[in-house]
Amino acid sequence: MCGIYGEVGRGDVLKNAIDGLKALEYRGYDSAGIAFFNELQRIKVTKQKGMVASLEAKAGVDRWATRCPLSDPLDYNAVIAHTRWATHGKPASKNSHPFKQGRFVVAHNGIIENYKEFKTELENRFIFQSETDSEVIAALLEEEYSKLWDSQFTVDEFEEGFIDILTRENKDMTLEAIYNVSKKLKGAYALAILSEDVPNTIFATTNNPPLIVGSHGDATSTFVVTSDEAALPANSQIYRLKPGEIATLDDNAIKIYESTGEGVAPKGDPLFQPIQAKQQPSKDGYPHFMKKEINEIEKSLRATLESKDTEQFKRVNEFLKTADTIYLSACGTAYHACLLGKHYIEKNLGKQVVAEVASELRYMEHVGVALEGDPHKVAAIFVSQSGETADTIAAAELFKKQGAKIITITNNPNSTLANLSDEVININAGKEVAVAATKSFTSQAFAFNLLTGDTCVNCLEPFFAEAKRLQENTTQIKELVEKYKKVKNIFFIGRLADYATSKEASLKLKEISYIHSEAYQAGELKHGTIALIESKSVVCAIITDPKIKDKTMNAVYEVKARGAKTIVISPFTELKDNAVVDDFIEIRNVMHDLIPILSVIPMFNFAYYFSKQRGIDPDKPRNLAKSVTVE
Ligand code: GLU
Repeated sequence: MCGIYGEVGRGDVLKNAIDGLKALEYRGYDSAGIAFFNELQRIKVTKQKGMVASLEAKAGVDRWATRCPLSDPLDYNAVIAHTRWATHGKPASKNSHPFKQGRFVVAHNGIIENYKEFKTELENRFIFQSETDSEVIAALLEEEYSKLWDSQFTVDEFEEGFIDILTRENKDMTLEAIYNVSKKLKGAYALAILSEDVPNTIFATTNNPPLIVGSHGDATSTFVVTSDEAALPANSQIYRLKPGEIATLDDNAIKIYESTGEGVAPKGDPLFQPIQAKQQPSKDGYPHFMKKEINEIEKSLRATLESKDTEQFKRVNEFLKTADTIYLSACGTAYHACLLGKHYIEKNLGKQVVAEVASELRYMEHVGVALEGDPHKVAAIFVSQSGETADTIAAAELFKKQGAKIITITNNPNSTLANLSDEVININAGKEVAVAATKSFTSQAFAFNLLTGDTCVNCLEPFFAEAKRLQENTTQIKELVEKYKKVKNIFFIGRLADYATSKEASLKLKEISYIHSEAYQAGELKHGTIALIESKSVVCAIITDPKIKDKTMNAVYEVKARGAKTIVISPFTELKDNAVVDDFIEIRNVMHDLIPILSVIPMFNFAYYFSKQRGIDPDKPRNLAKSVTVE
């Protein structure tokens, strides 16, 4: 997951790196670290548990203590920095990146799956400070580089003191060491690397996770490497590293090397693309991005409709109708949008759909079987807000390899997922900053509906108006939070589309309020989970489908009989007066097909106020990150 930022240049590269890291915090924020050259050209590494702001203070002190020429306008310096989302080893200063072994310093995004075999082997020659998988990369580089260095000399030459017969540049050997080590690593990695033998130079490589190199804004000789262009100012020229490429950034240029298997060869100047001027995300007066984004749901739904490419939607609709098999796949909230998508495709197109979480789908062998017949008959839709979700990308790549046509629904049409897709449906929901997704979910679900339904686009005003009413209607929600603030478990139940939104409502509550919550198909409750229901339980039923209204209400009766408090979210106002319903949240009955999308909005607000009530920062909940770029 994590964010990597590195910079070579004159001026305050340390400040730029800290600013860059702050922009990358959505990728992980349990600890952070920074490495830079001091005046003796040795590398100083500073690490800190917690958010980037705490690193900033510590790095400022270290910078003066080491008399690092970080902001001298005449001197170049190179800095690499990292904000972590722990996979191996708890969030702690010692496990923060970058890691130093010998002359090498490494910041890593990803997981090295075979790190243990190396660690065991290297442990008698290196002292490992951390529990991470990443630290072995620095040790492997040091070992490989030392071998290359030694292999330059014959024993005789050493003895004769011919130290000046060095035939190779340190930089070339470093490139070769990186190339050789990368061949040994299994798993996923994007790396920013410094070496004390090659001062003021950053080496960068990836085998898949996004890594961008480029210029810093208008500066012509300040070069950067970063996990996401979000860390860069407008006018920066960028190039996305392809798997296997190694970049060097020094005081002169960026160079890209392509691994050939016979060493490394310069590839020539890559095609750098300017990035668009970006507005820095602002809370616009809201206390949190999450509340701002909930209040933008209506605007985002309109934007999704506006960006709809009619020809493309027709094309995809036709493809779905002719496909033998339809797969929908995603992770987390986007997967719940897929569950609603499944509902819409099955109901509106009469086609059966497999909706599977991407981390499972990527390992399902039968997928290959489905594709072997006629890949063009398989429709595969992948959904990701960021377009950078590692599991979703891997699942899409699996389908692509088999020749399937890839359709992506995303909020980021320039993402890795979008780039590998044949059709990119841009939900155009606007930047989503809060870790807990809200407006992207409603827009993704709406995009599915528009793809499959005969939605009367001129009849949508009441739908938008109701979205607006619900996003702003917080009085009742705050009362509910006050009423239920002490509960330990909240259950959500629904059937069909209402089960999809129940899962999303439950996930939101877990993510940002840390309350235990489960979502169940209303009919399944009695097959097990009902054992958990007692007088202190809260059960929220979402009921939007008239055909199964009474069936879901049966489950409400059942939990009430066991003492639960009940909340019902529904357009059926007669339920309000039912004695088994303690609290009723009304969704006005606008366009039946779209009500499920609206039904989740009150629960976004519920989760938000619950989180606030418990003193949690809903924008940055523990253990989570906005864009999950590791497996
Ligand atoms: N696997 C590494 C660790 O746990 C990197 C995680 C990340 O990408 O942030 O430190």
